[in-house]
Amino acid sequence: MFNTKNATIMPKFNTTKTQQLSQHFSLREMTKTSQKDFLAENIILANQYIFELSALCNYALEPARAVIGRPLIITSAYRSPKLNAALGGAENSQHLKGQAADFIVKDLSAKEVWQKLKSSPFLRYGQLLYEGGWVHISLGAPWRPLAKCQQAFEVL
Ligand SMILES: [Zn+2]
Repeated sequence: MFNTKNATIMPKFNTTKTQQLSQHFSLREMTKTSQKDFLAENIILANQYIFELSALCNYALEPARAVIGRPLIITSAYRSPKLNAALGGAENSQHLKGQAADFIVKDLSAKEVWQKLKSSPFLRYGQLLYEGGWVHISLGAPWRPLAKCQQAFEVL
């Protein structure tokens, strides 16, 4: 288990070092958080979910970016259990498994983005949620039961 009490004796992680997971998305974007206390642990634990994060980038985020035609600004993707709890996320959130991302798009409202993605006949996902200030997208099958895929709704 990662013990935050050991954080002071651990090497400094270079949080600017990055690895591309798809054409437009990097591992750094998938692990970032504004909750600075959780960042180092989030970066370390995300490594268990590289495969899922790569799939998220290639099968959900790249297609969503193509539908919108503009860059997606990731606000939260992978979340360690502690970060997820701090953010009040659901206990079974796909963010915990590197299978979901929240994002915004510059100069477009989250609702416009969500509606545009929802009406795309090509986009595949588990959940596509309009959560007020951002859009949440998660991987569908085989990461999520088929009966629980293509769920698009508003969570306000
Ligand atoms: Zn989310």
